Parts: sequence; C-alpha cells; structure tokens
Amino acid sequence: MKPDPQKLFKVLYGAYGPQHWWPAKSMEAMMVGVILVQNTAWTQAAKVVDSLDANNCLSWQALRDIDDETLWQWLRPAGYFRVKSRRIKALAHFMASYSDSVTELFTLETADLRNQLLKVNGVGKESADSIICYGAGRHVFVVDTYTRRLFTRLGWVDEKIGYDELQHLVHSNIVKAKKPGGIEIFNEFHALIVRHAKEHCHKRPSCNKCPVKFCLKVGI
Ligand code: SF4
Repeated sequence: MKPDPQKLFKVLYGAYGPQHWWPAKSMEAMMVGVILVQNTAWTQAAKVVDSLDANNCLSWQALRDIDDETLWQWLRPAGYFRVKSRRIKALAHFMASYSDSVTELFTLETADLRNQLLKVNGVGKESADSIICYGAGRHVFVVDTYTRRLFTRLGWVDEKIGYDELQHLVHSNIVKAKKPGGIEIFNEFHALIVRHAKEHCHKRPSCNKCPVKFCLKVGI
C-alpha cells in the first residue's frame, strides 16, 4: 500500500482529537522529561519531573550542582536512574554553554540544533527531535517504536527501516500545514500515533474497533 501519512493523520485526529503535547509546565521540565521518558512510561517520568520541581531542582544550575546520590533517589521511579542521572547532568552542562537559556539554544538553525543536541550523552535522534519539535516548535517529525510498528502494520515500510528514512517518508508526504486549531501537524501527529498505540495498536493489536479503516487488519 502506498504510504499516505496525511490520510493517517486525518483519521487519527478525527478519532482522538488534539493531544496537547508536550505535557510539561516549563521548557526545563520538557527537556528533562525527554530523558526521563526513555524506556519508561510518561506517567513515571512525570512523577519524577514533579518531584524535581517540588525539590527546587528543575533548573540547569541546580541539576549541575546536585550530588549524584540525591538525584538517583529522585530519579529512581523512572528506572535506569544512574544512566538517566548522567544524561540529565550532561544536558545541564550542555545548557551552560547557552547561558542556561533555551531561547539562546533555539536561535540555532534546525540542522545545527539537531547536531548539537546529538552530541549530548544520551540524546539520540528521537530525544533530539522531541526537543526540536516540542521545545523549539519546528517542523520535525519524531519517530519512535510506535511509529515503526504502525507503519509496518499498514504495509508502508519494512520494520527494519532506519530512523532518518522513516522520518523522511513523513516529511516528504505530509503537507506542512497547520491542522484545525493551529498546532503544528508534526507535533500533533506523533502524539496521535502514541495515543493510537495505547488505545488500539498495542504489541498485540486490538483491531476490532480500530479507526484506521484502511488498515488491512481492521475488523479482524
Ligand atoms: S487495524 Fe490493528 S494493526 Fe491496523 S492500525 Fe488498527 S490496531 Fe493497528
């Protein structure tokens, strides 16, 4: 089947409506959340973000200064707490070179911004693009496991497709227009795919009432 991400977007948006991503109170919370959510559910990551906030540790300076043991304790609910602690500290040190200012960081042109973010320990393509899409508000589509799974099931790609290739497929097949309501389409599209993976397209999919009627598995 010929890939039609635009059609998929319309169907998912019609089924689930706006998702209001990224669900964070501040840019620091959003960027730290991007690390915390790696290999864990957002509910767990969000608890840790709230706990950092409650302990006045959601500034880049505080994250650089805090001792490892205390940070591990707060990060524990998000799993892989030692690794994530290292990564969050690396991100905080990275931000020091931009005067701890996301405004300054986001003056970088998109490709440069991505390259700089990818140099930070623990920031891979998905994390970098999440920051660029949801933080900087650029037209960048975030690819994740759910996207790969859904696009494979739709017969659009091979499951081994690379990150950049899958991202390019979406970038080149979707109109860079604004959806009704004015939120950028790539922002909403990724959030809708995550929602769809949670509602229907699980590891073991519930295809019976799936809204993606053009999927061959619907109704099975
Ligand atoms: S029909 Fe099944 S496999 Fe296809 S998109 Fe829906 S839930 Fe996923």
